Amino acid sequence: MTKITKEEPLWKRTTFKIGGPAQTLAQPESVEELCSLMRSGEIRLILGGGSNLLVSDEGVKGMVLALGSGFGQMEIDTAGEGVVRVKVGAAMGLTRLAGMAQKRSLSGLEFGFGIPGLLGGALRMNAGARDGETKDITESIDIVTREGRLETIMASDAGFGYRTSLFPAGCVITGATLLLRDGDGDAIHAVMRAGYMERKASQPLDLPSAGSVFKNPPGDFAGRLIETCGLKGERIGEAMVSPRHANFIVNLGAATAKDVHRLMRLVEKRVSEQSGVKLEREIKLVGGFDEE
Ligand SMILES: Cc1cc2nc3c(=O)[nH]c(=O)nc-3n(C[C@H](O)[C@H](O)[C@H](O)COP(=O)(O)OP(=O)(O)OC[C@H]3O[C@@H](n4cnc5c(N)ncnc54)[C@H](O)[C@@H]3O)c2cc1C
Repeated sequence: MTKITKEEPLWKRTTFKIGGPAQTLAQPESVEELCSLMRSGEIRLILGGGSNLLVSDEGVKGMVLALGSGFGQMEIDTAGEGVVRVKVGAAMGLTRLAGMAQKRSLSGLEFGFGIPGLLGGALRMNAGARDGETKDITESIDIVTREGRLETIMASDAGFGYRTSLFPAGCVITGATLLLRDGDGDAIHAVMRAGYMERKASQPLDLPSAGSVFKNPPGDFAGRLIETCGLKGERIGEAMVSPRHANFIVNLGAATAKDVHRLMRLVEKRVSEQSGVKLEREIKLVGGFDEE
């Protein structure tokens, strides 16, 4: 049954550990429950693992939707000629899924090991790393539309691009069919481990963040541009541009969403003034923020 809670603190559900309450949080456990929720009212935010979000200090007025554990299953659909079709629910953690694939010697998800968040968020963001993106292994995606209809979209129609997608407005991704390949478990493990060690060395994983704040502009790196402006270690309140990776803003403990937002705007201004590049935000802002 759909679990409904009131005044649910969203900071607990974001990797930034920032954000006010959701007026209502609904967690459906089945497609039927989700469809009736969609028909019953306005969903203000679809929450995955909260690893790419900055939620405002005031929180979200209205209903926030988070898929329940009923959407967290994985099953092998068909296999043949080295290709294995896997059906996965959108509430499955991406890193967990990558680990499960490795145990079955299935290749394709190596890039996803170490990316926080859930499959639904990874599809919406087309999450990826140097060695792959979510779109590369996706055959089709199941969604529930704003009107409460279950539909299947082929990956070629999902408008996947660099950390973006074009799903119908307001739809909830409920799962996907992924295409993986038979591989060598040890070799897959080695690739995942190498990727994880690289993350550990280059990213501030010891402090709360939402990963890369800005997208890399064509032919360049947001982190390089920010570092060139001398912004590593720059602070507003308890939000800081990470000294380890300039494209990460970290929460030193008690940062507010306002602190982070002001620091983002400072970075945007300095980079634009010094290099002429207008940085595009990768993280999604939720709730009210003053952009003046
Ligand atoms: C330490 C760290 C490292 C990171 N490294 C990477 C990286 O290497 N590569 C990378 O691409 N990203 C990276 N990220 C960012 C983030 O993990 C990814 O963008 C992730 O895929 C977001 O998934 P999520 O479930 O947390 O989505 P959320 O943050 O909860 O949501 C992101 C967006 O997707 C929407 N959404 C979520 N679930 C659904 C759904 N079921 N249906 C419809 N819309 C939905 C939300 O409304 C929101 O617009 C990193 C983040 C952190 C904190």
